[in-house]
Amino acid sequence: MYDPKSPQAEEFISHAEILATLDYAEQNKHHAELIDSILAKARLKQGLSHREAAVLLDCDIEEKNQEIYQLAEQLKKDIYGNRIVMFAPLYLSNYCVNGCVYCPYHMKNTHIARKKLTQEDIRREVTALQDMGHKRLAIEAGEHPTMNPIEYILESIETIYSVKHKNGSIRRVNVNIAATSVENYKKLKDAGIGTYILFQETYHKESYEKLHPTGPKHNYAYHTEAMDRAMQGGIDDVGLGVLFGLEMYRYEFAALLMHAEHLEAVFGVGPHTISVPRIRPADDIDASSFDNGIDDDTFAKLVACIRIAVPYTGMIVSTRESQKCRERVLKLGISQISGGSRTSVGGYVEPEPEEEKSEQFEVSDTRTLDQVVLWLMKLGYIPSFCTACYREGRTGDRFMSLSKTGQIQNCCHPNALMTLKEYIEDYAAEETKRTGEKLIAAEINNVPHDKVRAIALKNLQAIEQGQRDFRF
Ligand code: SF4
Ligand code: SF4
Repeated sequence: MYDPKSPQAEEFISHAEILATLDYAEQNKHHAELIDSILAKARLKQGLSHREAAVLLDCDIEEKNQEIYQLAEQLKKDIYGNRIVMFAPLYLSNYCVNGCVYCPYHMKNTHIARKKLTQEDIRREVTALQDMGHKRLAIEAGEHPTMNPIEYILESIETIYSVKHKNGSIRRVNVNIAATSVENYKKLKDAGIGTYILFQETYHKESYEKLHPTGPKHNYAYHTEAMDRAMQGGIDDVGLGVLFGLEMYRYEFAALLMHAEHLEAVFGVGPHTISVPRIRPADDIDASSFDNGIDDDTFAKLVACIRIAVPYTGMIVSTRESQKCRERVLKLGISQISGGSRTSVGGYVEPEPEEEKSEQFEVSDTRTLDQVVLWLMKLGYIPSFCTACYREGRTGDRFMSLSKTGQIQNCCHPNALMTLKEYIEDYAAEETKRTGEKLIAAEINNVPHDKVRAIALKNLQAIEQGQRDFRF
Protein backbone atom coordinates (compact mmCIF):
# COMPACT_ATOMS: atom_id res chain seq x y z
CA MET A 1 0.00 0.00 0.00
CA TYR A 2 1.25 3.50 -0.85
CA ASP A 3 2.25 5.46 2.22
CA PRO A 4 4.69 8.38 1.89
CA LYS A 5 5.34 8.27 5.65
CA SER A 6 6.18 4.59 5.79
CA PRO A 7 9.79 3.67 6.64
CA GLN A 8 9.57 0.82 4.12
CA ALA A 9 10.87 1.32 0.61
CA GLU A 10 8.10 -0.58 -1.11
CA GLU A 11 5.47 1.53 0.61
CA PHE A 12 6.91 5.00 0.01
CA ILE A 13 8.04 4.00 -3.50
CA SER A 14 4.89 2.01 -4.21
CA HIS A 15 5.01 0.24 -7.58
CA ALA A 16 1.19 0.32 -7.79
CA GLU A 17 1.11 4.07 -7.14
CA ILE A 18 3.73 4.67 -9.83
CA LEU A 19 1.74 2.66 -12.36
CA ALA A 20 -1.45 4.52 -11.38
CA THR A 21 0.46 7.81 -11.78
CA LEU A 22 1.66 6.85 -15.25
CA ASP A 23 -1.91 5.93 -16.23
CA TYR A 24 -3.24 9.19 -14.86
CA ALA A 25 -0.60 11.13 -16.79
CA GLU A 26 -1.31 9.21 -19.98
CA GLN A 27 -5.05 9.88 -19.71
CA ASN A 28 -4.53 13.58 -19.05
CA LYS A 29 -1.75 14.46 -21.41
CA HIS A 30 -4.17 16.32 -23.73
CA HIS A 31 -6.24 17.80 -20.91
CA ALA A 32 -5.48 21.51 -21.43
CA GLU A 33 -7.57 22.71 -18.50
CA LEU A 34 -5.92 20.38 -16.03
CA ILE A 35 -2.48 21.28 -17.38
CA ASP A 36 -3.30 24.98 -16.98
CA SER A 37 -4.33 24.45 -13.38
CA ILE A 38 -1.13 22.51 -12.64
CA LEU A 39 0.94 25.28 -14.21
CA ALA A 40 -0.95 27.88 -12.17
CA LYS A 41 -0.14 25.95 -9.00
CA ALA A 42 3.50 25.61 -10.03
CA ARG A 43 3.77 29.39 -10.48
CA LEU A 44 3.22 29.74 -6.72
CA LYS A 45 6.65 28.08 -6.28
CA GLN A 46 5.33 25.57 -3.80
CA GLY A 47 6.15 22.58 -6.00
CA LEU A 48 3.90 19.85 -7.36
CA SER A 49 2.87 16.36 -6.39
CA HIS A 50 4.33 13.46 -8.35
CA ARG A 51 0.99 12.97 -10.11
CA GLU A 52 0.75 16.59 -11.20
CA ALA A 53 4.34 16.66 -12.36
CA ALA A 54 3.85 13.40 -14.30
CA VAL A 55 1.04 15.05 -16.28
CA LEU A 56 3.39 17.88 -17.28
CA LEU A 57 6.08 15.41 -18.29
CA ASP A 58 3.62 13.57 -20.52
CA CYS A 59 1.89 16.66 -21.88
CA ASP A 60 1.95 16.64 -25.65
CA ILE A 61 0.22 19.92 -26.42
CA GLU A 62 2.97 21.93 -28.09
CA GLU A 63 1.79 25.29 -26.80
CA LYS A 64 1.61 23.99 -23.21
CA ASN A 65 5.05 22.46 -23.51
CA GLN A 66 6.41 25.88 -24.39
CA GLU A 67 4.75 27.20 -21.22
CA ILE A 68 6.40 24.42 -19.22
CA TYR A 69 9.85 25.41 -20.53
CA GLN A 70 9.16 29.10 -19.92
CA LEU A 71 8.03 28.43 -16.37
CA ALA A 72 11.08 26.27 -15.63
CA GLU A 73 13.31 29.08 -16.90
CA GLN A 74 11.45 31.63 -14.81
CA LEU A 75 11.65 29.58 -11.61
CA LYS A 76 15.33 28.98 -12.23
CA LYS A 77 15.92 32.72 -12.58
CA ASP A 78 13.76 33.69 -9.60
CA ILE A 79 15.26 31.19 -7.20
CA TYR A 80 18.85 30.67 -8.40
CA GLY A 81 19.48 33.89 -10.32
CA ASN A 82 22.30 33.52 -12.83
CA ARG A 83 24.67 31.71 -10.49
CA ILE A 84 26.07 28.25 -11.19
CA VAL A 85 27.91 26.44 -8.41
CA MET A 86 31.06 24.55 -9.45
CA PHE A 87 32.40 21.25 -8.14
CA ALA A 88 34.64 18.33 -9.11
CA PRO A 89 34.46 14.62 -8.37
CA LEU A 90 37.40 12.92 -6.66
CA TYR A 91 37.60 9.15 -7.07
CA LEU A 92 39.28 7.56 -4.07
CA SER A 93 39.07 3.88 -4.95
CA ASN A 94 37.47 1.68 -7.58
CA TYR A 95 37.61 -1.56 -5.62
CA CYS A 96 34.05 -2.80 -5.38
CA VAL A 97 32.27 -5.97 -4.32
CA ASN A 98 29.05 -5.21 -6.17
CA GLY A 99 27.96 -6.48 -9.53
CA CYS A 100 26.22 -3.44 -11.05
CA VAL A 101 25.94 -4.37 -14.72
CA TYR A 102 26.19 -0.77 -15.99
CA CYS A 103 29.38 0.15 -14.09
CA PRO A 104 32.93 -0.84 -15.08
CA TYR A 105 33.91 -1.14 -11.42
CA HIS A 106 31.72 -4.22 -11.01
CA MET A 107 33.60 -6.99 -9.28
CA LYS A 108 33.85 -9.34 -12.25
CA ASN A 109 35.57 -6.81 -14.50
CA THR A 110 39.13 -8.17 -14.53
CA HIS A 111 40.59 -5.87 -17.18
CA ILE A 112 40.08 -2.51 -15.52
CA ALA A 113 43.01 -1.26 -13.44
CA ARG A 114 42.09 -1.36 -9.73
CA LYS A 115 43.39 1.57 -7.76
CA LYS A 116 43.05 3.05 -4.33
CA LEU A 117 44.55 6.37 -3.35
CA THR A 118 46.82 6.48 -0.32
CA GLN A 119 46.59 9.53 1.94
CA GLU A 120 49.71 10.86 0.20
CA ASP A 121 48.05 10.33 -3.21
CA ILE A 122 45.00 12.21 -1.91
CA ARG A 123 47.17 15.13 -0.84
CA ARG A 124 48.61 15.32 -4.35
CA GLU A 125 45.21 15.01 -6.05
CA VAL A 126 43.73 17.68 -3.78
CA THR A 127 46.69 19.97 -4.43
CA ALA A 128 46.10 19.55 -8.18
CA LEU A 129 42.37 20.28 -7.70
CA GLN A 130 43.17 23.36 -5.62
CA ASP A 131 45.57 24.55 -8.32
CA MET A 132 42.69 24.37 -10.78
CA GLY A 133 40.61 26.54 -8.45
CA HIS A 134 38.17 24.03 -6.97
CA LYS A 135 36.74 24.53 -3.48
CA ARG A 136 34.00 21.89 -3.47
CA LEU A 137 34.49 18.17 -4.08
CA ALA A 138 32.31 15.11 -4.32
CA ILE A 139 34.25 12.05 -3.24
CA GLU A 140 33.44 8.71 -4.83
CA ALA A 141 34.43 5.19 -3.84
CA GLY A 142 33.28 1.68 -4.65
CA GLU A 143 31.86 -0.52 -1.89
CA HIS A 144 34.48 -2.78 -0.38
CA PRO A 145 34.53 -3.79 3.30
CA THR A 146 38.28 -4.24 3.52
CA MET A 147 39.66 -1.93 0.83
CA ASN A 148 37.31 1.03 1.43
CA PRO A 149 35.98 0.71 4.99
CA ILE A 150 34.37 3.74 6.63
CA GLU A 151 37.64 4.46 8.48
CA TYR A 152 39.38 4.94 5.11
CA ILE A 153 36.66 7.34 3.94
CA LEU A 154 36.83 9.34 7.20
CA GLU A 155 40.61 9.55 7.12
CA SER A 156 40.44 10.67 3.48
CA ILE A 157 37.95 13.44 4.33
CA GLU A 158 40.24 14.67 7.08
CA THR A 159 43.19 14.66 4.69
CA ILE A 160 41.23 16.57 2.05
CA TYR A 161 40.23 19.32 4.50
CA SER A 162 43.78 19.53 5.85
CA VAL A 163 45.49 20.35 2.53
CA LYS A 164 46.18 24.08 2.21
CA HIS A 165 48.25 24.75 -0.88
CA LYS A 166 49.03 28.40 -1.67
CA ASN A 167 45.63 30.13 -1.36
CA GLY A 168 43.75 26.90 -2.02
CA SER A 169 41.48 24.94 0.25
CA ILE A 170 38.68 22.47 -0.15
CA ARG A 171 35.85 23.91 1.88
CA ARG A 172 33.10 21.40 1.27
CA VAL A 173 33.37 17.65 0.76
CA ASN A 174 30.24 15.94 -0.46
CA VAL A 175 30.27 12.18 -0.20
CA ASN A 176 29.00 9.60 -2.66
CA ILE A 177 29.55 6.17 -1.11
CA ALA A 178 27.45 3.04 -0.79
CA ALA A 179 24.40 2.81 1.45
CA THR A 180 25.53 2.27 5.02
CA SER A 181 24.37 2.18 8.66
CA VAL A 182 23.02 5.01 10.84
CA GLU A 183 26.18 4.70 12.90
CA ASN A 184 28.40 5.29 9.86
CA TYR A 185 26.26 8.20 8.71
CA LYS A 186 26.79 9.76 12.14
CA LYS A 187 30.54 9.40 11.64
CA LEU A 188 30.32 11.09 8.24
CA LYS A 189 28.31 13.90 9.77
CA ASP A 190 30.93 14.34 12.49
CA ALA A 191 33.64 14.44 9.81
CA GLY A 192 32.02 17.61 8.47
CA ILE A 193 30.64 16.45 5.15
CA GLY A 194 28.37 18.61 3.04
CA THR A 195 25.79 16.54 1.17
CA TYR A 196 25.50 12.76 1.27
CA ILE A 197 24.78 11.65 -2.27
CA LEU A 198 23.47 8.26 -3.27
CA PHE A 199 21.97 7.48 -6.64
CA GLN A 200 19.10 5.09 -6.62
CA GLU A 201 20.09 4.00 -10.17
CA THR A 202 16.53 2.71 -10.73
CA TYR A 203 13.46 2.70 -8.51
CA HIS A 204 11.96 -0.23 -10.39
CA LYS A 205 12.51 -3.07 -7.94
CA GLU A 206 12.51 -5.95 -10.41
CA SER A 207 14.95 -4.18 -12.74
CA TYR A 208 17.00 -3.04 -9.77
CA GLU A 209 17.54 -6.62 -8.66
CA LYS A 210 18.52 -7.71 -12.18
CA LEU A 211 20.91 -4.80 -12.62
CA HIS A 212 22.50 -5.53 -9.23
CA PRO A 213 22.72 -9.32 -9.31
CA THR A 214 25.39 -9.69 -6.61
CA GLY A 215 26.85 -7.90 -3.62
CA PRO A 216 25.23 -5.92 -0.80
CA LYS A 217 23.75 -3.44 -3.27
CA HIS A 218 21.42 -6.19 -4.47
CA ASN A 219 19.22 -5.41 -1.45
CA TYR A 220 16.66 -2.95 -2.85
CA ALA A 221 15.14 -1.99 0.49
CA TYR A 222 18.49 -1.33 2.18
CA HIS A 223 19.57 0.87 -0.71
CA THR A 224 16.28 2.74 -1.08
CA GLU A 225 15.96 3.40 2.66
CA ALA A 226 19.55 4.72 2.91
CA MET A 227 18.52 8.38 2.93
CA ASP A 228 16.26 7.73 5.91
CA ARG A 229 19.20 6.29 7.80
CA ALA A 230 21.41 9.20 6.70
CA MET A 231 18.85 11.63 8.11
CA GLN A 232 18.56 9.59 11.30
CA GLY A 233 22.35 9.85 11.54
CA GLY A 234 22.06 13.65 11.47
CA ILE A 235 22.90 14.33 7.80
CA ASP A 236 20.14 16.65 6.72
CA ASP A 237 21.43 17.49 3.25
CA VAL A 238 20.99 14.47 1.01
CA GLY A 239 21.29 14.18 -2.77
CA LEU A 240 19.08 11.91 -4.85
CA GLY A 241 19.51 10.75 -8.43
CA VAL A 242 18.70 8.02 -10.90
CA LEU A 243 20.77 6.75 -13.78
CA PHE A 244 18.59 7.57 -16.74
CA GLY A 245 18.68 4.90 -19.41
CA LEU A 246 18.33 1.87 -17.13
CA GLU A 247 14.53 1.94 -16.88
CA MET A 248 11.65 3.88 -18.37
CA TYR A 249 12.23 7.55 -17.59
CA ARG A 250 8.56 8.23 -16.78
CA TYR A 251 8.67 5.55 -14.08
CA GLU A 252 11.89 6.95 -12.61
CA PHE A 253 10.60 10.50 -12.67
CA ALA A 254 7.46 9.68 -10.67
CA ALA A 255 9.41 7.55 -8.19
CA LEU A 256 12.12 10.18 -7.72
CA LEU A 257 9.48 12.74 -6.77
CA MET A 258 7.82 10.23 -4.45
CA HIS A 259 11.16 9.75 -2.74
CA ALA A 260 11.41 13.54 -2.28
CA GLU A 261 7.85 13.62 -0.90
CA HIS A 262 8.72 10.81 1.50
CA LEU A 263 11.72 12.67 2.94
CA GLU A 264 9.64 15.81 3.30
CA ALA A 265 6.79 13.90 4.96
CA VAL A 266 9.00 12.07 7.45
CA PHE A 267 11.85 14.50 8.14
CA GLY A 268 10.28 17.83 7.18
CA VAL A 269 12.93 18.49 4.53
CA GLY A 270 13.21 17.24 0.99
CA PRO A 271 16.42 16.43 -0.89
CA HIS A 272 19.09 19.11 -1.06
CA THR A 273 20.00 18.13 -4.62
CA ILE A 274 18.88 15.90 -7.45
CA SER A 275 21.37 14.64 -10.04
CA VAL A 276 20.33 13.61 -13.51
CA PRO A 277 23.06 11.36 -14.93
CA ARG A 278 22.48 9.50 -18.20
CA ILE A 279 24.26 6.25 -18.87
CA ARG A 280 27.60 6.59 -20.71
CA PRO A 281 29.95 4.15 -22.43
CA ALA A 282 32.77 2.75 -20.27
CA ASP A 283 35.22 -0.13 -20.09
CA ASP A 284 33.28 -3.41 -20.29
CA ILE A 285 30.01 -1.48 -20.66
CA ASP A 286 28.14 -0.89 -23.89
CA ALA A 287 25.73 1.93 -23.10
CA SER A 288 23.67 1.10 -26.20
CA SER A 289 22.77 -2.28 -24.68
CA PHE A 290 20.48 -0.45 -22.27
CA ASP A 291 17.38 0.19 -24.30
CA ASN A 292 15.79 2.89 -22.15
CA GLY A 293 18.13 5.67 -23.26
CA ILE A 294 16.59 9.11 -23.56
CA ASP A 295 17.28 11.65 -26.25
CA ASP A 296 18.32 15.25 -25.61
CA ASP A 297 14.79 16.63 -26.02
CA THR A 298 13.33 14.24 -23.46
CA PHE A 299 16.26 14.96 -21.16
CA ALA A 300 15.55 18.70 -21.39
CA LYS A 301 11.89 18.11 -20.58
CA LEU A 302 12.81 15.98 -17.58
CA VAL A 303 15.06 18.72 -16.23
CA ALA A 304 12.34 21.34 -16.75
CA CYS A 305 9.69 19.22 -15.01
CA ILE A 306 11.95 18.43 -12.04
CA ARG A 307 12.71 22.16 -11.72
CA ILE A 308 8.99 22.91 -11.59
CA ALA A 309 8.10 20.05 -9.23
CA VAL A 310 10.81 20.71 -6.60
CA PRO A 311 11.83 24.34 -7.14
CA TYR A 312 14.10 24.58 -4.09
CA THR A 313 16.11 21.44 -4.72
CA GLY A 314 19.42 22.13 -6.44
CA MET A 315 19.98 20.20 -9.68
CA ILE A 316 23.31 18.82 -10.79
CA VAL A 317 24.61 17.88 -14.21
CA SER A 318 28.08 16.42 -14.68
CA THR A 319 30.61 16.20 -17.49
CA ARG A 320 28.77 13.10 -18.69
CA GLU A 321 26.86 15.62 -20.77
CA SER A 322 28.28 17.53 -23.71
CA GLN A 323 28.84 21.28 -23.73
CA LYS A 324 25.81 21.71 -25.99
CA CYS A 325 23.50 19.69 -23.81
CA ARG A 326 24.75 21.38 -20.64
CA GLU A 327 24.10 24.78 -22.16
CA ARG A 328 20.49 23.83 -22.83
CA VAL A 329 19.69 22.39 -19.41
CA LEU A 330 21.46 25.16 -17.48
CA LYS A 331 18.67 27.44 -18.61
CA LEU A 332 15.95 25.02 -17.60
CA GLY A 333 16.95 24.36 -14.05
CA ILE A 334 20.49 23.12 -13.42
CA SER A 335 22.16 24.98 -10.55
CA GLN A 336 25.40 23.06 -10.12
CA ILE A 337 27.91 21.61 -12.60
CA SER A 338 31.28 19.93 -12.52
CA GLY A 339 34.22 21.20 -14.53
CA GLY A 340 37.60 19.83 -15.53
CA SER A 341 36.56 16.45 -14.11
CA ARG A 342 38.55 13.22 -14.14
CA THR A 343 36.48 10.11 -13.56
CA SER A 344 39.46 7.87 -12.85
CA VAL A 345 41.23 7.10 -9.60
CA GLY A 346 44.15 9.51 -9.39
CA GLY A 347 43.52 11.30 -12.68
CA TYR A 348 44.17 14.88 -11.62
CA VAL A 349 47.90 14.70 -10.99
CA GLU A 350 48.73 13.11 -14.31
CA PRO A 351 46.77 11.45 -17.13
CA GLU A 352 46.60 7.66 -16.90
CA PRO A 353 48.48 5.55 -19.43
CA GLU A 354 46.14 3.52 -21.69
CA GLU A 355 46.98 0.18 -20.04
CA GLU A 356 46.18 1.53 -16.58
CA LYS A 357 42.81 3.14 -17.27
CA SER A 358 40.51 3.25 -14.25
CA GLU A 359 37.79 5.70 -15.29
CA GLN A 360 34.16 5.06 -14.37
CA PHE A 361 32.70 6.54 -17.53
CA GLU A 362 33.75 8.53 -20.56
CA VAL A 363 33.50 12.26 -20.05
CA SER A 364 31.70 14.21 -22.81
CA ASP A 365 32.70 17.66 -21.72
CA THR A 366 36.50 17.52 -21.61
CA ARG A 367 37.22 21.22 -21.21
CA THR A 368 39.39 22.57 -18.42
CA LEU A 369 37.81 24.28 -15.43
CA ASP A 370 39.05 27.64 -16.70
CA GLN A 371 37.42 27.04 -20.08
CA VAL A 372 34.14 26.11 -18.37
CA VAL A 373 34.31 29.21 -16.14
CA LEU A 374 34.89 31.48 -19.14
CA TRP A 375 32.14 29.77 -21.14
CA LEU A 376 29.65 30.24 -18.28
CA MET A 377 30.47 33.93 -17.99
CA LYS A 378 30.09 34.43 -21.74
CA LEU A 379 26.65 32.86 -21.45
CA GLY A 380 25.77 35.41 -18.75
CA TYR A 381 26.18 33.14 -15.72
CA ILE A 382 28.24 33.76 -12.59
CA PRO A 383 30.40 30.71 -11.81
CA SER A 384 30.29 30.38 -8.03
CA PHE A 385 32.75 28.55 -5.79
CA CYS A 386 30.59 29.22 -2.77
CA THR A 387 30.49 26.68 0.05
CA ALA A 388 29.07 28.96 2.73
CA CYS A 389 25.85 27.33 3.86
CA TYR A 390 26.92 24.24 5.69
CA ARG A 391 29.90 26.12 7.17
CA GLU A 392 27.43 28.63 8.59
CA GLY A 393 25.13 25.86 9.83
CA ARG A 394 22.54 26.55 7.15
CA THR A 395 21.53 22.97 6.39
CA GLY A 396 18.36 20.91 6.25
CA ASP A 397 15.14 22.72 7.17
CA ARG A 398 17.02 25.89 8.20
CA PHE A 399 18.43 26.12 4.69
CA MET A 400 15.07 25.31 3.11
CA SER A 401 13.20 28.01 5.02
CA LEU A 402 15.77 30.66 4.02
CA SER A 403 15.58 29.39 0.49
CA LYS A 404 11.78 29.40 0.35
CA THR A 405 11.51 32.97 1.63
CA GLY A 406 14.13 34.10 -0.91
CA GLN A 407 16.43 35.38 1.88
CA ILE A 408 19.20 33.06 0.74
CA GLN A 409 19.71 35.31 -2.29
CA ASN A 410 21.30 37.87 0.05
CA CYS A 411 24.00 35.28 0.68
CA CYS A 412 24.29 33.45 -2.66
CA HIS A 413 24.83 36.45 -4.86
CA PRO A 414 27.64 38.22 -2.94
CA ASN A 415 29.21 34.85 -2.08
CA ALA A 416 29.27 33.97 -5.78
CA LEU A 417 31.02 37.24 -6.61
CA MET A 418 33.55 36.96 -3.78
CA THR A 419 34.48 33.37 -4.60
CA LEU A 420 34.69 34.18 -8.31
CA LYS A 421 37.02 37.04 -7.38
CA GLU A 422 39.23 34.57 -5.49
CA TYR A 423 39.27 32.34 -8.55
CA ILE A 424 40.23 35.25 -10.77
CA GLU A 425 43.01 36.40 -8.48
CA ASP A 426 44.53 32.97 -7.99
CA TYR A 427 43.86 30.76 -11.00
CA ALA A 428 42.26 32.43 -14.03
CA ALA A 429 43.83 32.78 -17.45
CA GLU A 430 44.06 36.30 -18.90
CA GLU A 431 40.78 36.34 -20.84
CA THR A 432 38.88 34.73 -17.96
CA LYS A 433 40.28 37.34 -15.61
CA ARG A 434 39.25 40.26 -17.81
CA THR A 435 35.78 38.85 -18.36
CA GLY A 436 35.37 38.09 -14.67
CA GLU A 437 36.39 41.56 -13.52
CA LYS A 438 33.78 43.11 -15.80
CA LEU A 439 31.13 40.67 -14.66
CA ILE A 440 31.81 41.31 -10.96
CA ALA A 441 31.75 45.09 -11.49
CA ALA A 442 28.33 44.82 -13.14
CA GLU A 443 26.85 42.17 -10.86
CA ILE A 444 27.78 43.83 -7.56
CA ASN A 445 25.02 46.34 -8.31
CA ASN A 446 22.53 43.49 -8.26
CA VAL A 447 23.14 42.69 -4.58
CA PRO A 448 19.77 43.85 -3.28
CA HIS A 449 20.63 44.81 0.29
CA ASP A 450 22.63 48.10 0.70
CA LYS A 451 24.53 46.96 3.77
CA VAL A 452 25.41 43.57 2.27
CA ARG A 453 26.56 45.26 -0.95
CA ALA A 454 28.85 47.61 1.00
CA ILE A 455 30.43 44.72 2.92
CA ALA A 456 30.81 42.68 -0.28
CA LEU A 457 32.59 45.59 -1.98
CA LYS A 458 34.96 45.90 0.94
CA ASN A 459 35.63 42.18 0.86
CA LEU A 460 36.29 42.23 -2.88
CA GLN A 461 38.98 44.83 -2.27
CA ALA A 462 40.44 42.78 0.57
CA ILE A 463 40.58 39.74 -1.74
CA GLU A 464 42.52 41.81 -4.24
CA GLN A 465 44.95 42.60 -1.44
CA GLY A 466 45.45 38.95 -0.63
CA GLN A 467 42.84 38.06 2.01
CA ARG A 468 40.63 34.99 1.43
CA ASP A 469 37.53 33.14 2.56
CA PHE A 470 34.86 35.76 3.18
CA ARG A 471 31.29 34.63 3.32
CA PHE A 472 27.75 35.61 4.19
FE1 SF4 B 1 30.48 -0.48 -7.35
FE2 SF4 B 1 29.10 1.80 -7.41
FE3 SF4 B 1 30.09 0.78 -9.65
FE4 SF4 B 1 28.11 -0.45 -8.45
S1 SF4 B 1 28.01 1.61 -9.35
S2 SF4 B 1 29.94 -1.45 -9.29
S3 SF4 B 1 28.53 -0.04 -6.30
S4 SF4 B 1 31.26 1.52 -7.92
FE1 SF4 C 1 24.83 27.47 -2.03
FE2 SF4 C 1 24.48 28.60 0.35
FE3 SF4 C 1 26.44 29.43 -1.19
FE4 SF4 C 1 23.93 30.01 -1.80
S1 SF4 C 1 25.05 30.74 0.01
S2 SF4 C 1 25.49 29.25 -3.22
S3 SF4 C 1 22.87 28.16 -1.17
S4 SF4 C 1 26.26 27.38 -0.31
